[in-house]
Amino acid sequence: MSVRAKRLFGGVKIPSRKLSAGSPILPLEGVEEVCIPVRQHIGAPATPVVQAGQRVKRGELIAKSSAPISANIHASVAGTVKAVEERPDGKGSTVLCVVLTREGEEEAFLPPLTNPSKEEILARIEEAGIVGMGGAGFPSHVKLRPSTPVDTLLLNGAECEPYLTCDDALMRSHCDEIVRGAKYLAAALGAERILIGIEKNKPEAISAFSGALEVVPLKKKYPMGSEKHIVYTCTGRKIPLGKLPAAVGVDVQNVATAFAVYEAIEKGKPLIERVVTLSGKGAKEQKNLLCPVGAPLSSLIRACGGEQGAVKLVAGGPMTGTALVGEEAVVTKTSSGFLLLSRGETNAEKPTACINCGRCGNVCPMKLLPMQIEFYTEVKDYEAAEKYGGATSCIECGACGYVCPARRPLLQSIRAAKAALRRKV
Ligand code: SF4
Ligand code: SF4
Repeated sequence: MSVRAKRLFGGVKIPSRKLSAGSPILPLEGVEEVCIPVRQHIGAPATPVVQAGQRVKRGELIAKSSAPISANIHASVAGTVKAVEERPDGKGSTVLCVVLTREGEEEAFLPPLTNPSKEEILARIEEAGIVGMGGAGFPSHVKLRPSTPVDTLLLNGAECEPYLTCDDALMRSHCDEIVRGAKYLAAALGAERILIGIEKNKPEAISAFSGALEVVPLKKKYPMGSEKHIVYTCTGRKIPLGKLPAAVGVDVQNVATAFAVYEAIEKGKPLIERVVTLSGKGAKEQKNLLCPVGAPLSSLIRACGGEQGAVKLVAGGPMTGTALVGEEAVVTKTSSGFLLLSRGETNAEKPTACINCGRCGNVCPMKLLPMQIEFYTEVKDYEAAEKYGGATSCIECGACGYVCPARRPLLQSIRAAKAALRRKV
């Protein structure tokens, strides 16, 4: 069954560049060492519970959730703990990691559950360390306990960022498992209705889900997959500023999260691996790879035949991703992809002065004034950036910077303003 989508305000039409579309999910081979960060989620880092020299099985708890908003971390391979230490994160900083040397195949999964109750589902999701896998990484057991009643579960299969195809690959090959995971999620929420929103450039996925769930085929427009916007386009409900989808009776979960929930309940498998897209013309091949959490980016690049003239490395998609300064980055629970961009895929032109064309405001899906935010951020008047531009309502989609003819670094300014305003609270 298919439901008609509402129109998205603003947004931009951008080339999909889905170079790995149609690629099957291939297991990442040859990973001898994984480096697992204890913070892969929003909230407090997990506390390591293993020491150097200790043997661990695949699926064993290695770092324990340390606060109400935190998540457990498990060994993604069997082996020996080489170190628990700070390691570079590829973004110019360091992060505490549990480093495992791979040896053997022993597993320590949880017992599978049959006909679990709502509380058993929630407890398993927490135990398995499941977090939102669409990018935010909010611990799922917290998100699934909303303070207001939820009647609709909305699965996000939009995958509107260029290049990324990991969700599409999962939807094409694991529709039944995602549906089962969605039913557990709906049961945990007490939601009667399950919808799935998928952009129309994924016809195979739309057809796979058509007999199983209410499918909302979405127009290909960026940022269709933003939580606020997919809720409106799929349900017609508008989330008030500063509120979460639960305020309008909706809970949004990424399709990969639903798949992880299925695996945690029916196989007892914690969240220890995920599908990651390695793409960009700076890689010899572009693939969707099933990777253990903690796998080094270099192993994904090797699996794609190596690099060929890459000038920029990005973790995530080109619109919202983070530029990397080195190959030390590793796969985390929220890694949707890594891009090796060639010269022709990046814009190296220098910014020029704003010409007040207004395009950035016209495409902003939050109806903000990005040029005002940037102007006031440059003079460090962050209150004015909020008052006249609406800085804190920005969802950081990057659509404004994409259309700017002066190539102003709008998103960087907005992020700086938001960070400064947070510090003042
Ligand atoms: S101001 Fe924020 S929400 Fe608006 S287009 Fe720019 S990045 Fe997106
Ligand atoms: S799109 Fe760029 S040049 Fe046009 S008003 Fe916005 S910041 Fe200025």
